[in-house]
Amino acid sequence: SKVPPIILNNGIEMPQLGFGVWQVPDDEAEQAVTTALEAGYRSIDTAAVYENEEGTGKAVAASGIAREELFVTTKLWNTDQGYEATLKAFDASLAKLGLDYVDLYLIHWPMPDKDTYIDTYKAFEKILSEGRAKSIGVSNFLPEHLERLIDATSVIPAVNQIELHPHLQQRAAREYHAEQGIATEAWSPLGQGKGLLEVPAIVAIAQKHGRTPAQVVLRWHIQLGNVVIPKSVTPSRIKENIEVFDFELDPEDMAAISALNENRRLGPDPAEFHVA
Ligand code: NAD
Repeated sequence: SKVPPIILNNGIEMPQLGFGVWQVPDDEAEQAVTTALEAGYRSIDTAAVYENEEGTGKAVAASGIAREELFVTTKLWNTDQGYEATLKAFDASLAKLGLDYVDLYLIHWPMPDKDTYIDTYKAFEKILSEGRAKSIGVSNFLPEHLERLIDATSVIPAVNQIELHPHLQQRAAREYHAEQGIATEAWSPLGQGKGLLEVPAIVAIAQKHGRTPAQVVLRWHIQLGNVVIPKSVTPSRIKENIEVFDFELDPEDMAAISALNENRRLGPDPAEFHVA
């Protein structure tokens, strides 16, 4: 494969780069995922709330790629938190994907005000024990939420998927994850393409290496050890975004990008987000 794996805390391999499908309508997801699989992606990141698990599953089925070579992630939506509701929502996701297991199942948001993520995670542990998810983890958890979860449950999450890009570098979270053996997965790794790819320092590094700004930002993540799941529906960009394993940023390039941190979120604050 084009994409090297990282080893999760349960010994399972996860491709360090995958394909995200947020905001891809269900009827376009099959084509986008098919293009990604043809370009060499083997990891796909969807979620119940994206409403494109069916299109994603169709592309997986039609690809002819052996199931064990693929890494499919989906996520439990906020309205389905709670032990019984989680088990039901998981069945629905599996059915939509047309799979008998997922590689990674994530709690989408902690919603600390609702205080249901512990019960939810206990259902995740049951799903894990049944082999219907090969790994379980969380998304948008702050270190304080992880700490509480780890105290109250038995399986340390394999992954925490958080907003992370050069304008929001999440150093404290990454450090905490590393201490706990939790892999850091970056969502919106390209900063949603909004402005970040025009930042002069990034453009200059791209020119120096004969690469695109998107490739430079993805390569920065890879060298930091983050898992990335860039999204695009444009075939040329889908292909470009996976071609980041045949060049290396110099220490001064890494430092110049690391100097761009502004602790600026594009998405909601996980401490407060609790929409239905
Ligand atoms: P992203 O950072 O991957 O940016 C995607 C956008 O960047 C594209 O829509 C396009 O406009 C632009 N782009 C992509 N490739 C480009 C290229 N090569 N050149 C120029 N522009 C390019 O943003 P995202 O979609 O928000 O995040 C990626 C994935 O992360 C999502 O699809 C989803 O799977 C996941 N995600 C998870 C959460 C969560 O709460 N867990 C939240 C947001 C996103």
